[in-house]
Amino acid sequence: MDLKITDNAIDEAMKLHRSNPAVDAHLDLAGEILLRRQGGEKDIVEKHYLPYFRAGGIRLVVSSVYVETSNLEHGWESALEQIRALKEDVKELAEVTLVESRKDLEDLLEGDGIGILLYMEGLDCIGEDLEKLSELYRLGVRGASLTWSRPNALGMGCCKALEHRQISGGLSKIGVQAVKRLEELSMFLDVSHLNDQGFEEVCRIAERSFTATHSGSRQVYDSYRNLTDQQIRALAGQGGVMGMNGCKYIAGSLEGNHLEMLCRHIEYETKLAGSGHVGYGFDLCDSYGRARAALKGERYTDRDDCLLDHSQVPLVSAALLQRGMEPEEVKGIMGGNFIRYFREILPVG
Ligand SMILES: [Zn+2]
Repeated sequence: MDLKITDNAIDEAMKLHRSNPAVDAHLDLAGEILLRRQGGEKDIVEKHYLPYFRAGGIRLVVSSVYVETSNLEHGWESALEQIRALKEDVKELAEVTLVESRKDLEDLLEGDGIGILLYMEGLDCIGEDLEKLSELYRLGVRGASLTWSRPNALGMGCCKALEHRQISGGLSKIGVQAVKRLEELSMFLDVSHLNDQGFEEVCRIAERSFTATHSGSRQVYDSYRNLTDQQIRALAGQGGVMGMNGCKYIAGSLEGNHLEMLCRHIEYETKLAGSGHVGYGFDLCDSYGRARAALKGERYTDRDDCLLDHSQVPLVSAALLQRGMEPEEVKGIMGGNFIRYFREILPVG
């Protein structure tokens, strides 16, 4: 990462991050915890994440429960195992709480702890059985995307980030019912990874605000994982927030100044939709990748993330400030906007 940020901007950003909650709306945390526990590790959040969350002022993390394609045959078991593993890992950590309601969120913001909000990244694991959504709800899961980048019983995903092709086909009948059921349960709906036709259908049928936890702008970087101008306007128009993805191959190329890339997406979306609908959903994957490789006895050498870890999140805010964004707007983007969204969408308590 090419850092050309002034000390002044970093100081200003650190001030903001010390006194306002920062949110990362997408982290594959539950899956990583399960992988590391399978490798014999314990206290994973405490060792691998807490110090960096603290340094970056991160107060709320949306943890995905994501079933890898190779595990789909046992998808439901894998999802439950991930949820169990995450709960077990943080159970002794007094400062970490699971956020399941608006009340939990308010309590979290009154204190100085760190909240984890669980959601399903793709609902492949429920098959056609919508009753399983209630079961997930009972386990504390509070949101879902219908698809990852692959088709399932509910709809078509978009293509994978490195591919470049339009996938046609919209939501299935059960996919439409799943949207309704998620709304009845006060679970949030995430449209990241959905294909364009699916997005359009969600726009037509959703009655509550939906969000995109980890997608950038397709105009800034032409990937089908990113949102078109029309989608950005539609998402903002119905009260959603889009979390800027910090994966190099979704934000832009593997080379170059990645902070600048992130800023270009955020500034473009802000111009198009207003800063109140933009947030951070960095999708930092290298730590997950290292855990998976270690379990297979391999070495992980990729560097897919624009940021090294969560302690660098204030650098993005600093870059935005340095490039002329108002502190009030940065406050919303770094966390305030997603807090507003979850306040509206979570069950009361
Ligand atoms: Zn994803």
